[in-house]
Amino acid sequence: MQKIILITGGSRGIGAATVRLAAGAGYAVVFSYLKAREVAEALCAEIRDAGGAACAIQADVALEADVVRLFETADREVGKLTALVNNAGVAERQRRCEEMSAARLSRVFATNVIGSFLCAREAVKRMSTRHGGQGGGIVNVSSAASRLGSPGEFVDYAASKGAIDTFTIGLAKEVAGEGIRVNAVRPGVIYTDIHASYGEPGRVDRVKDSVPMRRGGDAEEVAKAILWLLSDDASYSTGAFIDVSGGR
Ligand code: NAP
Repeated sequence: MQKIILITGGSRGIGAATVRLAAGAGYAVVFSYLKAREVAEALCAEIRDAGGAACAIQADVALEADVVRLFETADREVGKLTALVNNAGVAERQRRCEEMSAARLSRVFATNVIGSFLCAREAVKRMSTRHGGQGGGIVNVSSAASRLGSPGEFVDYAASKGAIDTFTIGLAKEVAGEGIRVNAVRPGVIYTDIHASYGEPGRVDRVKDSVPMRRGGDAEEVAKAILWLLSDDASYSTGAFIDVSGGR
């Protein structure tokens, strides 16, 4: 059976590393991006040049209609999904809680939490034996922030990842008897563009001495944990978490 994986936010960072590793492991890869069309197309070309299969689709995971279109396009252009990685996520400029507007909170929770729920909903409809599917795997990209709370910086982001942890546990139990395993990774500080996106490109180097391993992580180190959780080697793991955070 052809393995087909959908990765949200696959154009950059942890998502792009997961796209590359999944393609190398024999998956046909569908990934979404928000704005970076040229980067996404270049990544598709790189995968195809290496003999793999990849397809990039623009979709905002915070918008229900976009998510429905993303999955319908994947069905049509690639085939029946066997794996989903809920990776797309955002953080906003560091602030204390009393300075956070409702609009900011809505943006962070819409992408990080509602986006993951909507994508998982569409995946379960396709994978669950209850709906005639053949099972599959879901990995949610949470964060070490869900355990640490990120005081003075982004408690909103940390709380959204706390919601993802609880979502992982609940959904895993809900669909465990339907052939679907649901797990999560919790990255620590990883060298990607996300830090520039909220205004502190050098954050990993600023905080790395607080990491027991005294370094930031690479996106590929997170991608390897994601691919392991989706693999048959993890066949008895569901509702589980892998911390990829250098001991933090
Ligand atoms: P990144 O480099 O900023 O990449 C984010 C990706 O998500 C991009 O592909 C972006 O698309 C896409 N995206 C953003 N908002 C989206 C939306 N509303 N709909 C669809 N796609 C959207 O981020 P990253 O550091 O790789 O982070 C990936 C995941 O890991 C996130 O869930 C993040 O919270 C989590 N994480 C990261 C770290 C870290 O230190 N980097 C630590 C813990 C957890 P465009 O390229 O089109 O903008």
